[in-house]
Amino acid sequence: GWLDGQVTLITGGGAGLGRAIAERFVTEGAHVAAFDRSATRLERLTAEVPEVLGIVGDVRSLGDNERAVQQVRQRFGRLDVVVANAGIWDFQASLDSLPADSVDDAFDEVFHTNVKGYLLAAKAAAPALRRRRGSLILTLSNASFHPDGGGPLYTASKHAAHGLLRQLAYELAPDIRVNAVAPGGMATELSGPTALGLDSASISTRAGEWQDVMARALPLSMVPTVDDMTSAYVLLASRAGAKAMTGAVIEADGGIGVRGVFHRAGSGNRPATSDL
Ligand code: NAD
Repeated sequence: GWLDGQVTLITGGGAGLGRAIAERFVTEGAHVAAFDRSATRLERLTAEVPEVLGIVGDVRSLGDNERAVQQVRQRFGRLDVVVANAGIWDFQASLDSLPADSVDDAFDEVFHTNVKGYLLAAKAAAPALRRRRGSLILTLSNASFHPDGGGPLYTASKHAAHGLLRQLAYELAPDIRVNAVAPGGMATELSGPTALGLDSASISTRAGEWQDVMARALPLSMVPTVDDMTSAYVLLASRAGAKAMTGAVIEADGGIGVRGVFHRAGSGNRPATSDL
């Protein structure tokens, strides 16, 4: 496989995209640890894919991130790749709709998970990754570049994570490559902040309508699945495949950034200037 013997730690590995990456990396020959706050999800994963090491913890805690790195090194002897991926969404809560008495806590929850969680994973893993000249991969989002992939909390957090990507790629070179994948909307268990009562909501349960709208709006006319994303992570994790890449973002969002003004996409549909 592309990732033979690569020891990988994946945050948010218990569900959704993180779990799909975990399973794909195992088939590519990697040794995989999944770090998640849900013990139930990890038990399900490790029952179905016994090669995976499950580590229960909260990405918002430096101590938990350090313990995860330590457990991986105890079990597999080293650490080659970290995928910082655990995140929460704001379910498009607009500035106007955010309740005055919970906006403060909601901001902290979203930023502590989506931004601090990535920073602390990097902080905890950098010494081990440096020793191996390994790599760090962040899960960004269409919301790292464009509005309307969330409300202001999520969009700002994912833009911040893009800033983190660029700064860490700069600081950690040449020892650690730091790259990212920016998926578009996918039907997963993606949940929201407790402060907004969204901790047991999931993007999938609100799926029907947005999936149809997205498929109609996107140039590629489709809503990607988690399995459509995993090859991008394999490429970035590969020492040979991504040898020259750092600070890069693979946008895998169905073409949100190349929507047109007059037609969503397709040069064949483009009107002649004289027809406008
Ligand atoms: P998911 O909820 O299915 O999986 C995320 C996992 O992270 C869950 O198992 C959850 O328990 C875990 N997690 C959440 N907070 C945690 C914490 N504080 N500590 C430890 N674990 C925690 O969601 P997903 O859609 O697979 O999300 C993965 C990443 O993909 C996120 O960064 C998300 O922002 C990003 N993303 C998702 C979409 C989408 O539409 N689903 C689109 C673009 C980007």
